[in-house]
Amino acid sequence: MNVDEHLHWEEEIKQELTYLEGISQKRRLVTTKYAERPWLIINGCKMLNLASNNYLGLSGDQRLVYAAAAAAHTYGAGATASRLIVGNHPLYSEVESVLINWKKDESALVVNSGYTANIGVISALMRRDDVVFSDKLNHASIVDGVILSRAKHQRYRHNDLNHLEALLKKASPHKRKLIVTDTVFSMDGDMADLEGLVLLKERYNAILMVDEAHASGIYGESGQGYTHHVKLQDKIDIKMGTFSKALGSFGAYITGEKWLIDYLTNRMRALIYSTALPPAVLGAAKAAVEIVQEDEACRTVLKKNAAYFRKLLTDFGFHICGSQSQIVPVLIGRNEDTIRFAQRLQEEGIAAIPIRPPTVPENEARIRFTVTAEHSKEDLDWAVKTTAHVGKEMGVIA
Ligand SMILES: *Cc1c(COP(=O)(O)O)cnc(C)c1O
Repeated sequence: MNVDEHLHWEEEIKQELTYLEGISQKRRLVTTKYAERPWLIINGCKMLNLASNNYLGLSGDQRLVYAAAAAAHTYGAGATASRLIVGNHPLYSEVESVLINWKKDESALVVNSGYTANIGVISALMRRDDVVFSDKLNHASIVDGVILSRAKHQRYRHNDLNHLEALLKKASPHKRKLIVTDTVFSMDGDMADLEGLVLLKERYNAILMVDEAHASGIYGESGQGYTHHVKLQDKIDIKMGTFSKALGSFGAYITGEKWLIDYLTNRMRALIYSTALPPAVLGAAKAAVEIVQEDEACRTVLKKNAAYFRKLLTDFGFHICGSQSQIVPVLIGRNEDTIRFAQRLQEEGIAAIPIRPPTVPENEARIRFTVTAEHSKEDLDWAVKTTAHVGKEMGVIA
C-alpha cells in the first residue's frame, strides 16, 4: 500500500472525529454499575436511573437470574452453532411455544436481537425495486433493513397517514409494498395509528409490519404488545418484539402465519449465518414471558408512574413531545444546550440521556427520560423537582 494513501484515510477519519467533537455529537462509552436499583454508579457518582429500558425491573428479577443460570447449567454457555446447524437447543421450541400461546399467533421465530430481527426480516422479504414505507421516526434497525434489502425507501412524516397514502398512491401496483412502524416510538414515546395503517395496508395491498420493542410486556391484556391493546393482532402481517427491554433479557421474536415463519427460516440471512443465542439468554426470556403474563400489577405501577411523571413535567412547563408512554422526552432544542442539560442533571444525580441529530431532527435535541416500575413516587418527585431547577437555571422553562 502507498504510504501517502494510508495517511490520507487516517487523516480523514480523524478529521471526522474532530468534526463530531466540534458539533457536540461525539459519543463515548462510560462504565455503568448498579447501586441499589433503580440507582446507578457512573464515574463514581450515584445517580437515579432514568435512562434504561428495563421498564418492569425484570433484568434484576431473581426469577430471571435463576432461570438463566439453570439454562446455562443444563445446556452450556454457548449454542455452538447457528439454529439451522446444531445450535437449536430445546429451549428454542419451549420459548416459541410460550410466545405462540401468549401472542395467540400461528407461529413464532426467536432471533438474536431486535436489530437482527429488523434487518433480517426486511431484507428477506423485500427485493430490489420493491418499496418500503417507513415512519420517519422508526428505529435505525428498520432503516438499515431497508438499505440492506436494496428496496426503494419512502419515509413518511411521523404518524402522518395522509403523507403515507400519497406515497402509496404513487407507487406502482406491481411492486411488493411493505409498511413498517414502531408501535411505541423510541424517541417521542407516542404511538402509531395502527387502525389507520391497517386501512391503508388493505386499500393498497401492502404488507404491514410492526416493531413492539417498547411495547412488549407493557401493553395489551397480558403484555403482548400495543397491537393487542388495540385488538388488531389478526390484521397485522408481521409482529416483531424484543426480550431486551421490558422483558429484561436479550433477543427478539417475530410472530405471524406459519408460511411467513417458514420463509424467514429459509431466507433470513441474519438468522442463518449467525450463531444461536446462548441458552442462558433463552432461559431468562422464557421466564420473562411467563412472568409478564401473570404480573398485571407490575404493568399497572409502570403506567401510573409514567402518567405521574409526564403530568409533573408538563405542569412545570416542559414540552414532552406528545409522549403517552413510559418514554418521556423533554425538548431542549440545540445540541450544546442539550448536552449541557444532561451534564447538569448528572451533576445533580440524574442519569438521563441527551438525544441529538441524526437520531432526531435538527434543533429538536432532547433529554429522554424513561420511567420504570421500580421508581418510587419519591424518586419521581425528586427527579422532576431537580429537572425543573436545571430547566429554570438554563432558561428552558420560566
Ligand atoms: C431497541 C430497539 C430495537 C433493537 O432491539 P435490540 O434487541 O436492542 O437489538 C429495535 N427496534 C426498536 C424500536 C427499538 O427500540
